Amino acid sequence: MPDLGAVLNEIAAEMAARPDRGVVADYIPELARADASAFGIAVIDGQGETYAAGDADIPFSIQSISKVFTLTLALGMVGDRLWRRVGREPSGNPFNSIVQLERERGVPRNPFINAGAIAVTDVILSGHQPSEALGEILRFLRFLGQDDTIFVDKAVAASEKRTGFRNAALANYMKSYGVIENPVDFTLGVYFHHCAVAMSCRQLAMAGNYLAHAGRNPATGLSVVSPERARRINALMLTCGHYDGSGEFAYRVGLPGKSGVGGGILAVAPGKASIAVWSPGLDPSGNSHLGRIALEMLAKRMGWSIFGTDGSSAPV
Ligand code: GLN
Repeated sequence: MPDLGAVLNEIAAEMAARPDRGVVADYIPELARADASAFGIAVIDGQGETYAAGDADIPFSIQSISKVFTLTLALGMVGDRLWRRVGREPSGNPFNSIVQLERERGVPRNPFINAGAIAVTDVILSGHQPSEALGEILRFLRFLGQDDTIFVDKAVAASEKRTGFRNAALANYMKSYGVIENPVDFTLGVYFHHCAVAMSCRQLAMAGNYLAHAGRNPATGLSVVSPERARRINALMLTCGHYDGSGEFAYRVGLPGKSGVGGGILAVAPGKASIAVWSPGLDPSGNSHLGRIALEMLAKRMGWSIFGTDGSSAPV
């Protein structure tokens, strides 16, 4: 089997040298401050060993990657009743699109597009104050990441709140169909804050490790969800985790993954590894440009695609 540490160092060196770095998101003004030259990657293997290269310890805005964890939390709270409020089909549309919502009577296609994630946040919020719901989400992330220093970047949350007119439109539209139960401002406030959580690649790989190992993080021995639920969350990440770039991500990388406009991607090689990568420049679908390329290289070299291995890569 290739030496994972050496493979990560090679990938980080190659990524540092690439001139094509994508475009840093600026529709949330605070995110525009990110350094386009940054690149980090962290992997926890099946033995619970962490390997990292590049800027793997710098916290970045996890943005939509938080939606994997809010989905996990909401399923834990209401179980399969969640699927009355949100679908499970890829949207084939941009992450902040509103067109489908009108045709489908306010029920979002899946929990990873903005509309779907806002509906999931609303489920977590019901019966609580916004500060309690956010506290619950942050505690969950700290538990999963095994690190109490994980924090909400208030400047990013405030920046998104000031400019989040599209998300407000989506939430109001869903509210008109009764898909949102709480005051729209409350739901959006919690949503903006969980998107503004800052984590490093190393923390994120640890937080996602339960998805790589049937719901239980072998690095900590802690059970998070049942094997069935982990498998299903992975299925949604594969089909919907990169919005209208999900097909391309499956084609090139072949792993369940969830991206965020902060430039992070969490990817899962079931039974083998939890992977977090970060590079702030995005492709036109809002997914990390170099993050995707790095994952493609990693999956190929390690033989980790869920669809089979290339002759050139070593089966694990
Ligand atoms: N907070 C961002 C938004 O709602 C999340 C989008 C993303 O990461 N794709 O626009």
